[in-house]
Amino acid sequence: MNAHSPLSAPPLVDPFGRTIAYVRVSVTDRCDYRCVYCMSEDMNFLPKRDVLSLEELDRLCAAFIGLGARKIRVTGGEPLVRRNVMSLFQGLKRHLASGVLDEVTLTTNGSQLARFASELAECGVRRINVSLDTLDPSKFRAVTRWGDFGVVMKGIDAAAAAGLKVKINTVALKGFNDSEARGLIDWAHGRGFDITFIEVMPLGAMERDRADQFLPLTELKRDLESRLTLAPSAYATGGPARYYDVKETGGRLGFITPLTHNFCESCNRVRVTCTGTLYMCLGQEDAADLREPLRRSESDEPLIAAIRAAIARKPKGHDFVIARAAAPAVQRHMSATGG
Ligand code: SAM
Ligand code: SF4
Repeated sequence: MNAHSPLSAPPLVDPFGRTIAYVRVSVTDRCDYRCVYCMSEDMNFLPKRDVLSLEELDRLCAAFIGLGARKIRVTGGEPLVRRNVMSLFQGLKRHLASGVLDEVTLTTNGSQLARFASELAECGVRRINVSLDTLDPSKFRAVTRWGDFGVVMKGIDAAAAAGLKVKINTVALKGFNDSEARGLIDWAHGRGFDITFIEVMPLGAMERDRADQFLPLTELKRDLESRLTLAPSAYATGGPARYYDVKETGGRLGFITPLTHNFCESCNRVRVTCTGTLYMCLGQEDAADLREPLRRSESDEPLIAAIRAAIARKPKGHDFVIARAAAPAVQRHMSATGG
């Protein structure tokens, strides 16, 4: 048996005893939107030669799966704007079929879902996250800089019709959607979707001052609890959200709080950018280049060695701080690291 076959390879365990079972793979840094908290209006995108080909992304995913990864999330930028991205999902299907992989999921802005939802379902994708910060079409246009709310609604309809389980991700933005939180919850739960609020993170240089956008979820939760009954839920997806059952709607509500609550103890995931840079922690700069070992050899051995060496230095956690006029904790944009 090959020393690196999935059956014989020891799993990826970091220095703190956490088994790495979840890989988020960004397939592009490009996007058809420019959400104000994520990108600046005039982004410079990467030259094509720097971005891993779909075949290289497939090899990379296979290497992680061989090392014990059970879940892959495809993200970006906007993953569905990558040309021919469906071939990656078609390829990942073989790992689902053989049982070595539990799940392939997707995070999307929903703009291309009407076109791809049924094909995603055919490829074995069962759950997707759709980012949506408002139900007001003109506010939607403002926060995405030019997105069309109606197109996203059609995309979400197509996903639901294809049998995909939809979770809504909403970035909580002070003075923008705090007053809409209840409406978003009612809408999502009315359609049978979970909804998760995310604290805005200090990633990437941005025109606007982060402290002006930051809405602590402790504050949002307190406000919601004055009107709704939230019971802590045992539900967990392997992601960082903490869930509550909402008695009034019968739906599930999650909070992702990198700033007000540190969830690093249970971190089982790593991120790979579309250039093959492996980030062991979203909030730290330390990274490993996987593109060079991928391109250097047809054998996966250098790649596997690079992955193992990187996991051996996965940090204990991150330390985001939002202080007025503070420099961003990490200079890269979320769209580069993959959300
Ligand atoms: N384009 C896809 C989308 O919007 O779902 C996938 C990539 S996007 C970078 C992934 C997630 O990151 C989205 O839910 C987005 O709202 C979130 N995000 C982007 N910038 C963020 C920031 N600075 N703080 C918190 N969440 C952010
Ligand atoms: Fe694009 Fe997603 Fe970033 Fe918005 S959050 S600009 S949709 S990558």
